[in-house]
Amino acid sequence: MATIANQPRCDVCGNKLVKNGKTGAGRTRWRCKNCGASSTVTRPDITAKKQFTGFHRWATGKQSITELGTPRSTFHRTTAWCWQV
Ligand SMILES: [Zn+2]
Repeated sequence: MATIANQPRCDVCGNKLVKNGKTGAGRTRWRCKNCGASSTVTRPDITAKKQFTGFHRWATGKQSITELGTPRSTFHRTTAWCWQV
């Protein structure tokens, strides 16, 4: 069994994290058995999808950046990677 899917690692020491209940927001809370650090893992796929949707909407010219409801500087920062797609 070499699957590492859905098994985040500790930012601090790189150890595997174990599930440690949930946060108030319903996210799984993770805890490192080695150093005791706890973290919640943001789902980069979901965040990226949201960013790319906004980027795509803007790039196809139907909406201006201001209409997307995101500050211009934030928009450029969060969608800079989209240009590489
Ligand atoms: Zn750790």
